[in-house]
Amino acid sequence: MKIAITGGKGGTGKSTVATALAVELAKENRVLLVDADVDCPNDHLILSIKRREVKRVEQTVPKWDFKKCVKCGKCSAVCKANSIVFVKGRFPIFIPDQCNGCGACIISCPKNAISKSKKEIGKIFSGKKQKLDFVSGELFPNQPIAEFVVSAIRDYVNGIENKYDFVLIDTSAGTHCDVISALLGCDMALAVTEPTPLGAHDMELILELLKILKIPAKIVLNRSDIGDGSLIKKIAEKCGTEIIGDIPYKKEILESYSKGEPVIDDSILKIVNYLKKHTQLT
Ligand code: SF4
Ligand code: SF4
Repeated sequence: MKIAITGGKGGTGKSTVATALAVELAKENRVLLVDADVDCPNDHLILSIKRREVKRVEQTVPKWDFKKCVKCGKCSAVCKANSIVFVKGRFPIFIPDQCNGCGACIISCPKNAISKSKKEIGKIFSGKKQKLDFVSGELFPNQPIAEFVVSAIRDYVNGIENKYDFVLIDTSAGTHCDVISALLGCDMALAVTEPTPLGAHDMELILELLKILKIPAKIVLNRSDIGDGSLIKKIAEKCGTEIIGDIPYKKEILESYSKGEPVIDDSILKIVNYLKKHTQLT
């Protein structure tokens, strides 16, 4: 059972919920927690997991053979990422950090002066906390496409997921390509939100995305005693999505960040029981 922990808005407590669920589920099940928030991975910090590198993530980039180049500038003209600077009469200048690896410059060159090369843009790590297995990815700073690293994590996890009863995927916030990539192949998604107008607005967006991807969604309302819960209930009713958990605000949850231990309380146990019941696992 692959379950995404996601949410349209950042800062709603996705990682707090994902880590708490993973630790509790791992007491009686084989569980893999995957941190797919590659711009800002933090589940290993919440759980005090020491990570080790298991894979480099590379992206295709162009490489020039200036002996063949006739300085026509066509490669620069087709580059939508503005990665190739061309001044008439000079060789093109490549700015690798902006390149998204689309390959248009390679196709456009009339002299076959450009070939494919690779650059490292991130890494995949693994780790362990007691019985819980852990995988996370990290995009290097100043690299433009987080989706490449998320896609590499997905491939890596696809190769090992049969060993687990639960694979929990903690996505980044929003509805961009890297979130979509993390959601692909999930059997269910928990949309973690908070009872604020912004939380309600962004939750509606992620529920729409999950509907398009045909992934059954459930709502987890975090900090449920702060703000106006009726905002979330209205959208849940409108979208026909069940709220399976509400987690009240607790000072202990904030304190747990500094100790590397998630807070497992009745609200987390209720969600865990729901997941066990709906996957027929004990
Ligand atoms: S691969 Fe695409 S983004 Fe990169 S330099 Fe070529 S055209 Fe530009
Ligand atoms: S398209 Fe090819 S020949 Fe023209 S400037 Fe670029 S590398 Fe040189």
